[in-house]
Amino acid sequence: MSIYRRASRLFLWVLVGGLSATVSAQSKGAKIISAADMKPYLTFLGSKEFRGRSAPSVELDIASKYIAVEAARIGLKPLLPNGSYFQDVPVEVTTMSTTRSYLRVTGPAGELKLSFPQAFTSSVRVAGDWSASGGLVFVGTTLNSPDPKWDEATGSDLRGKVAVILEAQPPSVAAGGAPAQANTAARTRLLREEGAVGTISIISREREGGLAKRGLSFDVAERLRFLDVDTVNPAPRLPAAQPAAPAQAAAAPPPGPFYTAEVRHEAGAAILGVSREELGRLFDAVLQNQSVPSKVLTGKTVEIAVCFDQRTVTTPNVVAYLPGSDPVLKDEYVVIGSHHDHNPPREGRIFPGSDDNASGCVALFAIAKAMMVERPKRSVIFVWHTAEERGLVGAYYFVQHSPVPPETITANLNLDMITRNDTNSIYLIGSTKLSSELDKSFRDMNGAAVKLTLDYKYDDPAEPNRFFFRSDQYPYMRYGIPGVWIFCGTTPDYHQESDVEEKADYAKMERVTRLTYLVAMDVGNKPGLLKLDVHSEITTRGAHNMKVVWQQPIRTSAPR
Ligand SMILES: [Zn+2]
Repeated sequence: MSIYRRASRLFLWVLVGGLSATVSAQSKGAKIISAADMKPYLTFLGSKEFRGRSAPSVELDIASKYIAVEAARIGLKPLLPNGSYFQDVPVEVTTMSTTRSYLRVTGPAGELKLSFPQAFTSSVRVAGDWSASGGLVFVGTTLNSPDPKWDEATGSDLRGKVAVILEAQPPSVAAGGAPAQANTAARTRLLREEGAVGTISIISREREGGLAKRGLSFDVAERLRFLDVDTVNPAPRLPAAQPAAPAQAAAAPPPGPFYTAEVRHEAGAAILGVSREELGRLFDAVLQNQSVPSKVLTGKTVEIAVCFDQRTVTTPNVVAYLPGSDPVLKDEYVVIGSHHDHNPPREGRIFPGSDDNASGCVALFAIAKAMMVERPKRSVIFVWHTAEERGLVGAYYFVQHSPVPPETITANLNLDMITRNDTNSIYLIGSTKLSSELDKSFRDMNGAAVKLTLDYKYDDPAEPNRFFFRSDQYPYMRYGIPGVWIFCGTTPDYHQESDVEEKADYAKMERVTRLTYLVAMDVGNKPGLLKLDVHSEITTRGAHNMKVVWQQPIRTSAPR
């Protein structure tokens, strides 16, 4: 046996032995990460009783409180002033006013006053105040469609009038491929061009049925403006799909706002002066491709006011930390993050957000518990970010108001959706983009202990789903902090009522959580901060990197 071969064997022995020794030392903590421990947490936080944990909401505040209490119980410390676990993110909320908005119909039979949100709402749910008044014309199926069959003239002058329509689409139009929303938008545009000052739409049977069945009012939609946070030059929002252009070029509508008031069926029947059964027959007729004639509602006038209120509230990032074991390196940090918000209910449909992202939130508990057994030299900050679904707001806010200098954060590990799809595989997004050491740590720890398939399909910012830009690691990366999104991919349940805990793959969750723990330990124990050795423009950490423009996404094909 040659010296060379012996030497290389010795080298291999040191390399493999050294690596497995590191991992086995770390696995004291990794061992206690278990599906059995995580399941009760996910069952609770991923439940529909939190009504989607939208930011801001009382339910998200309750979830935040629970997370903070649990973080303290596990042994994590507060990091914010006055011993607080909450970093309050201010947000200005605009909603349609329940006290000042109304719809009043006056006629021979007296006065009918509808209130929001019980009986009416507005198609423009968050914008500037608007009012309109005038006589009423029911336009039947007129203007329902570009199909000539329905294109009879109303025979009525719509100038200065409020037009009443049914939110119903004849099958002949639906078969033409125009989505119902585009159809409604096209109809109201035509009504406006004919001189109408507003529209009242009697909502579809499906919506009426959904609200009635659940005993609900219309949603009080919100427009949010997050204060004191800079998301300048983030990935541009893609334009919403535009309704198909009308067949003939339309004349420019008159200036000024034009809203559609949406009304429940009882109110709609009263406005038309018909019974609920007669209203039902009108819907039947439209849905059977039959003509419904227009009608001037003689003697009736309507007054509509849609007004908006503003208030400023806060929604919390939950922040907790574990001091590092090294007297010097404890002043540097690994940030492990997840977002705890999801999406608000829509007309009674609740989106539990179990995978997205109660799953990541729960993984943080498991990692924190493992670190109570064995902690790294650097300190570890756990952040449950708010308002991710509103544009990564909580993560931007955290890096911009960080309780520690961002320059001392070695990495951000972002867990967002980890319980679905291929049980043996996980996507890594961003790990190759700022520091080769971060990705190497994943490959080393995974190869030595966890042995998942690491899938880089979505790592490229130009990948059509543009996932690179779509979760909380991105604001950290914009500050030059190496970041990674640990992600299981979407499913048909993404952002739906069916994103429930029962569908969680706990075996996968356990392995992904263990891998993240091992990487956090490895990164937290390295002699220095992760080297910024990949991106030519990003060589130091800090706010100055916000000006760097990442490769822009081209389009999205992801479900909303
Ligand atoms: Zn998410």
